[in-house]
Amino acid sequence: MLVLGIETSCDETGIALFDTERGLLSHALYSQVEMHSEYGGVVPELASRDHIRRVLPLIKQTLAAAKCDLHQINAIAYTQGPGLAGALLVGASIGAAMSFALKIPALGIHHLEGHLLSPLLSTPAPNFPFIALLVSGGHTQLMQVDAVGHYRLLGETVDDAAGEAFDKTAKLLELGYPGGAALSKLARRGRPGQFKLPRPMLNSGDLNFSFSGLKTAVLTLVNKQELTEQTRADIALAFQDAVVEVLTQKSLAALSQSGLTQLVVAGGVGANEQLRESLDYKAALKGAAVFYPELEFCTDNGAMIAFAGAMRLQAMPEKNWQPAGSFTVKARWDLEMLEKPEAN
Ligand code: ATP
Ligand code: MG
Ligand code: FE
Repeated sequence: MLVLGIETSCDETGIALFDTERGLLSHALYSQVEMHSEYGGVVPELASRDHIRRVLPLIKQTLAAAKCDLHQINAIAYTQGPGLAGALLVGASIGAAMSFALKIPALGIHHLEGHLLSPLLSTPAPNFPFIALLVSGGHTQLMQVDAVGHYRLLGETVDDAAGEAFDKTAKLLELGYPGGAALSKLARRGRPGQFKLPRPMLNSGDLNFSFSGLKTAVLTLVNKQELTEQTRADIALAFQDAVVEVLTQKSLAALSQSGLTQLVVAGGVGANEQLRESLDYKAALKGAAVFYPELEFCTDNGAMIAFAGAMRLQAMPEKNWQPAGSFTVKARWDLEMLEKPEAN
């Protein structure tokens, strides 16, 4: 079964073809990050317009790369939410139109389900059930994943997401937007222990997070120091140390509490090297294994959407594989409220 995935929830147009027998056949991505960096954040209207420009050429490119014809596609999976409504509408309308024209089923996929399942695209892949640490630009959550569509929220951030904290701190350190990767690069030149930042909610006794105070603590530091190249690197390291320690400890606590031994890390912050080292090390001490998506599938992409669509289709009764009659997008959408595929 060949599934075309379409991701347009924010500022990346991602297209992919996933075959349930042969795996990922091809994928293409266009990132608008340069266009938005001028404004220091994503401008929704510009994002929608650019998705319109990119989506069809990328679909053609993806089909050509897989040496596939449009008519070989068996189903469409598009990101239905959460995200920017206008941006989501581009992918949803193309997906629904293709489904209608080709008379094949269309599935609206939850963007975070895509992120959660993305480590399953790699080998070795984890087996259900597992704990997932979802650390992206908009979300920081610990979930228990029992099967496709069976997600239990164990804890989440009460304010900023980890990626958002990285981006805001990067801005304070004059690293541009989005600055997570740049901050992590700068932190490599930081001197350990030069500055100490708080570990918010480390001992809160639950699996929730808070990152907005950390950003304020960085602001206070930045205002007190002369910002030399070295102090910027020192602050970057102190910030990263704090985030990594909290994410590591809470993830390990989730493993202990659930009795599970597999941790999956998904979302853009999962690309962070220090986080990976820390999780790998601490998990190994407890006999647990950590799984990551390929680096290119940590941030937004079409492959995770095509894959989630394929998993859902396979779990659904075939009589329910219907072409789209109409479509909606959901700018806000709670992952725990997702329909179970077998109940579709
Ligand atoms: P969501 O999926 O919650 O809607 P998003 O799609 O914007 O949000 P992702 O694309 O998964 O989020 O991740 C982007 C985030 O990852 C940005 O905040 C970015 O700064 C951060 N990021 C990327 N690489 C790194 C890195 N090496 N270290 C830390 N953060 C990083
Ligand atoms: Mg993005
Ligand atoms: Fe995302």
